[in-house]
Amino acid sequence: MGKRLVILGAGESGVGTAILGKQKGFEVFVSDFGKIKETYKQVLLHHELEWEEEGHSEAKIMNADVVMKSPGIKDEAPVVLQLKKAGIPVISEIEFAAQYTKATMVGITGSNGKTTTATLTHYLLEQGGLNVALGGNIGKSFAQLVAEGNYENYVLEISSFQLDGIESFKPHIAVLTNISPDHLDRYHYDMNEYIASKFRITMNQGPEDYFIYDADNEFINTWLSNHPIAAQKLPFSIEKKLEKGAYLENKQIIIKTEHNTFTMPISTLALSGNHNLKNAMAASTVATLLRIRKDTIRQSMEHFQGVEHRLENVLKINNVLYINDSKATNVNATYYALESMEGPTVWLVGGVDKGNDYTELLPLVNEKVKAIICVGVDNDKIINAFGNVVDMLVQTESMQDAVQVAYRLSEKGDTVLLSPACASFDLFENYEDRGRQFKNAVRNL
Ligand code: ADP
Repeated sequence: MGKRLVILGAGESGVGTAILGKQKGFEVFVSDFGKIKETYKQVLLHHELEWEEEGHSEAKIMNADVVMKSPGIKDEAPVVLQLKKAGIPVISEIEFAAQYTKATMVGITGSNGKTTTATLTHYLLEQGGLNVALGGNIGKSFAQLVAEGNYENYVLEISSFQLDGIESFKPHIAVLTNISPDHLDRYHYDMNEYIASKFRITMNQGPEDYFIYDADNEFINTWLSNHPIAAQKLPFSIEKKLEKGAYLENKQIIIKTEHNTFTMPISTLALSGNHNLKNAMAASTVATLLRIRKDTIRQSMEHFQGVEHRLENVLKINNVLYINDSKATNVNATYYALESMEGPTVWLVGGVDKGNDYTELLPLVNEKVKAIICVGVDNDKIINAFGNVVDMLVQTESMQDAVQVAYRLSEKGDTVLLSPACASFDLFENYEDRGRQFKNAVRNL
C-alpha cells in the first residue's frame, strides 16, 4: 500500500491534488466539512476516489502520512490544529504538486494584479512558442496540470494562503506585483504577518533564480531592506529610473537584465492605467528572462485585451462608456481604477467591507467622481466617507437599479465605472456574478 494522502477541502485544489496523488500511488482520502459541489463530486467519482462531505471523520484523517489543506481552510480549524499537534505534515497543493515536475516555474503573487499579470505572462510565453500552462489560483489547479501533462513551463498565480503551506516550493522566477492591506482577518490583523506570507514566494530561491517586484511599493522596499534574499532582484518602477529592471524613459518601457535591454513605447500597449503599466513591466521582464523575442513581446503587448471583470470596457451608450471592474474587491484596486478615469465618472461602489479605509480615495473622488451609486446592503461607511465630497449619492439594492440610476445620471463624455472596493457576498454569488449582472444590465439599457 502506498502512503496515505488526506485532502481537506474538495474544491479546485483539493480535487486536483487527489487526482495527482492517486496517479503517484498514494492511498487518497478527500474530506470536506461543507457540501461538495456537484461538478467536483462527479470528478471524484470518475477517478474512483474515496471522499466524504459535511464533516471530517477523525479516524480516516489522523492516520495520514501527509495532509493537503485547501487554501480556504484556516490554520485555526480544529482538524488542522489536531493534525499539527500529532506532527502530521500539512502542506498546500502547490507544495505537493511541485515535487512531481522539473519544469520551469514562474510564481506570481501580490495583493492585486496577480491574475492580469499571470494571464499576460502566459500569453507572452505562449506567443513566444514555449510549451506553457497557466494555473494555480486561476483556472485549473497546479496539481491538475501536473497530472495532465508534461508541460515544460508553468505560470502559476499563487495566493498568500497557498504560500502559507509551502516548504520547498522554489519558482525559478518569482513575481511580487505589489502589497497593500488585504485578507488581514487571516493574519491576526498584523500587516507584517501578511507581508511575510507574500515573501515566502522567494524563500527557497537561490542566486540562479529571479525575484521581480514593485519598487514603488513601500511595504516591499522596507521589507527587503531588513530581510535580504538570495535571488537576483529585478525591480520595476513607474516613478524612478533603475540600474537594473524595468522603468520608464521618454514614454518607453525599458527593461534591463544582465544580458539584454528591451524597449517598447507605452502608447502601443493595449491595456490602460498605471497599474497595468506595472503588470506589463512584470510580465515582459519574465518574458525577457525566458528569452522570448523582443518583437514577439511587443506585438503580444499590443494585442492583449485584458481579463474579464478587470477594468473591462463593456459598451458605449450615448457616448457614455460603461466599465466593469467587479474584481476590484479592495481599496487599492479601486484606487487604480479611479486614477485611470479620464472624464467625469459615475461610480458604483459597495458590498461587504473588509475593514476598508477610504481616506486614500478622497482626492481622486473629489477630482473625478460626479455621482456615487451604492450597490450594497450596508452603505454607512461609504456615506460617511464621501457624503460630503460628491453632489449626488444614491443607494440601490440591485445591479439592475444601480445601472438604471447610472444611466439617468450620466451625460455625454462620462464614464460609468463599477469598481466596488468590497467583496460581493451580500447581494451576489461572487465577483463574477456581480460583473455579469452589471454587463447584462448595461446591455439591456
Ligand atoms: P488579483 O488576481 O491579484 O486579484 P487581478 O488581476 O484579478 O488581481 O485584478 C484585481 C483588481 O485589481 C482589478 O480591479 C484590477 O483592475 C486591479 N489591478 C490589477 N493590477 C493591479 C496592480 N498592479 N495594482 C493595483 N491594482 C491592480
